[in-house]
Amino acid sequence: MKTLRDLVVHEGNQSLVDALEMSILSLMAGTPVHVHVEGLRGTGKTTVIRAMKSILPSIERVRGCLYNCEPANPHCPAHRNMDPEDLSSLGTESIPIPFLEISHAAKLGTVVGSIDLARVVDPNHPEVALLPGVIPRAYRGIIFVDEINRLADTSPELTDVLLDVMGTKPGRLQIEETGLPAFILPVICCVWAASNPDEEPGALEDIRRQLSDRFDFVVNMGRPQNHDAVKRILSGNIWGEEVLSHKYGASVLERADTLRQISLSDDLSSLLAELYIGFGIESLRAVEAISLGARARAAMNSRTKVLLDDIRSVLGITLRHRVDGATLINIGKFLDEYESKQGKHRREEREQGSPRDGAGEERSEEGAGKDPVRTDDACIKPESLWDRLIKSMGLTRHDMSKRHYGTEGAGLSQGTAASRTSAGHGRRYAAGGGTSIADPRDVDIHAPPAKARSLFQLSGSEILFTEEDLKIR
Ligand SMILES: [Zn+2]
Repeated sequence: MKTLRDLVVHEGNQSLVDALEMSILSLMAGTPVHVHVEGLRGTGKTTVIRAMKSILPSIERVRGCLYNCEPANPHCPAHRNMDPEDLSSLGTESIPIPFLEISHAAKLGTVVGSIDLARVVDPNHPEVALLPGVIPRAYRGIIFVDEINRLADTSPELTDVLLDVMGTKPGRLQIEETGLPAFILPVICCVWAASNPDEEPGALEDIRRQLSDRFDFVVNMGRPQNHDAVKRILSGNIWGEEVLSHKYGASVLERADTLRQISLSDDLSSLLAELYIGFGIESLRAVEAISLGARARAAMNSRTKVLLDDIRSVLGITLRHRVDGATLINIGKFLDEYESKQGKHRREEREQGSPRDGAGEERSEEGAGKDPVRTDDACIKPESLWDRLIKSMGLTRHDMSKRHYGTEGAGLSQGTAASRTSAGHGRRYAAGGGTSIADPRDVDIHAPPAKARSLFQLSGSEILFTEEDLKIR
């Protein structure tokens, strides 16, 4: 099996590696992040996922506990009500973060738990006991489900179990076996899944939409796009030990600590609220995932402050399975406008000699990326000839971005337009698989672009609205 050291990271798999790193970090900080990777066969989805196993840090558990009880906070049936002194006499042990797999043909008993037959037929101590399945044993770890679309198609009862496990944080698992009292366990584990939407039975979101929505991140796996990456794959020339230990050494724990302390600023929280309401995003999980992802990204970069850039960089993986391509692009534009407004706001404050707390700091933390002056100026767009013409006629230009803002979003929340499904297909196979929302390859094309028409051929209502029209709308 390949380890992460053997893996060549290129533009096709970079966003998957990033998403999995954020997931591990967040798990260490106590909040699991579920990741689903979609891609064609042979792109190496499962190789990347399994390679992450090699960098998983260790956790402490009550010695010998199959449920990986946290010594300070035991949850399993055997230890949760135990006297603290008895518990500490059991001692603790360090184990690698569990990484278990569920195949699409798995049985309910092996996934949830079943009667431990060895103990039932034990001649000295016959008793009815439970043999915990994959999910309880993956507590504080990772469960990998390959071909999750096939599992969702052929095993509705396992799908229901996953829905429960991933529905809340922590999730829950109800175990019922004849002869034993039913009990409910909390579940803290990341579910990582892979699927090829191009093969039977198709994309997960078309089979079980609910399950698709449970994934915080959905990553599109691409192929290497340049010569150099392919050559590196062939030659096996890969990351050195120093790079890996710098990235994943003791610092994972430190960064998990940082993550626990990070919260979104008031400004960014209201920005997310605005996104959710304004664009009619169906699932509240979407904004929760954006917030979680942005914080994890800040922690990955050893920052305690979340930047707009963090939000922008997780938009693609948190929204591509939840909104259509056009809405995603409009959300990107909306963030651009927000950023330039912020820039303008700050400049006005600077001119008035009252700099807002931390205004400059936010930029400088971002590093050598952007020139603040340029950002400020970018917001003042020269008025186009067209705009001036319309203004002089006393008319208002029909704002395309506003239209999407209301109607596209609202339409989506009402249900499943057929266009949504077809849009999904276009998006899924976009090359590169990056998270850039403005990448033209990620843009869904609903219809061939219309031929250009002269002004005189357009009917007035296609471009112009009077103030009266707008009031009625
Ligand atoms: Zn235990």
